[in-house]
Amino acid sequence: MIPLKTDRELELMRRANRIVAVVLAEIEERIRPGVSTLELDSWAEERIRGLQGVPAFKGYGGRDGARPFPATLCTSVNQEVVHGIPAAARRLREGDIVGIDVGVVYEGYHGDGARTYAVGRVSDEARRLLDTCRLSLERGIAAARAGNHLGDVARAIDDCVRAAGFAVVRDLSGHGIGRGLHEEPQVLNHYDGRRGARLKSRMTLAIEPMINAGSWQVRTLEDGWTVVTRDGSLSAHFEHTVALTDDGPEILTRC
Ligand code: MG
Repeated sequence: MIPLKTDRELELMRRANRIVAVVLAEIEERIRPGVSTLELDSWAEERIRGLQGVPAFKGYGGRDGARPFPATLCTSVNQEVVHGIPAAARRLREGDIVGIDVGVVYEGYHGDGARTYAVGRVSDEARRLLDTCRLSLERGIAAARAGNHLGDVARAIDDCVRAAGFAVVRDLSGHGIGRGLHEEPQVLNHYDGRRGARLKSRMTLAIEPMINAGSWQVRTLEDGWTVVTRDGSLSAHFEHTVALTDDGPEILTRC
């Protein structure tokens, strides 16, 4: 069953996601050559707590002997797709792209959003990859309407990315969100020909295309978290949490 949210739940999710939006907006000016991903992480944790939120990713996972995620942000540079771990030694350089993924809990409800930023001047290919990923997210959100199906969201994203000559990562997906960081349903970004579940008002979905400049294939590094492109090509990730309403999708992670 895909949970439908009450008015009160939607209000708490607006608050949680508003904190995510503030962090994603304010971090932009902090992303410059020389800053370490750990410095960004420390700033983000303080900012989230200052807004009465709790970092949702810190300590996440860790079942079955796996290492829990150790940080507030996922910071994924260049060929890193998602789930990069912030580190003092990882200093951003001119021409990098860096994906920042933020998760927040507020009074038991989750917010989740991500953007990929250019560090200084980037290559034309990197710029086009970022623009395409952002556009594919917009297309996916536009398709997230009551009466449509999950497959419509996937097809909208996939068509947009293919048209630009890039590839949608298939091993990872978006998700329902609410009391849990990850709830039903799985929200695919690649279209596999299936119609999928019918969408209804009061569903809340984290839609998050991850796209590669080269092949769609990825692998996970030995740290157990960082996902990278197999061919070393650049990767981008944008994510919004969206509430489906009778008037269409409401983007909760927007300032
Ligand atoms: Mg997510």
